[in-house]
Amino acid sequence: MMTKPLFVHCCHCRWCQRETGASFALNAMIEADRVLLVKGAVEVVDTPSNSGKGQKISRCPRCHVAVWSNYAGAGDVVRFVRVGTLDQPDTLPPDIHIFTASKQPWVVIPPGMAAVEEYYERTVYWPRESLERRNALLSARIS
Ligand SMILES: [Zn+2]
Repeated sequence: MMTKPLFVHCCHCRWCQRETGASFALNAMIEADRVLLVKGAVEVVDTPSNSGKGQKISRCPRCHVAVWSNYAGAGDVVRFVRVGTLDQPDTLPPDIHIFTASKQPWVVIPPGMAAVEEYYERTVYWPRESLERRNALLSARIS
């Protein structure tokens, strides 16, 4: 990732639990053109998602670990990078916990941390800089 992400989701939906084999997924959303694939190519696998619209998961062709996803909503221009696959995952804690309605009960969200039962209104939670970056993406797609 060449810059900081737009926003980091800690997703507690059942699909993320299944995919990780654990309790949640940690995804950093970032513009696709700010992700540099250092070598090789990813293998793209169509996978169901919580929304029912599906996601494309890009995986390492050798070990099949998921490195990022693209969802129907944001399309190909925004990647959801799996934070745990980065060289320095500790630098990207979540900005929000989502789909906490299906959170495994032993997972305790720190007090004061942004958390929602399902999804959220972007303009309420995203920093202004990220909203502006998103607007730039959308206007580039139209023109
Ligand atoms: Zn999820």
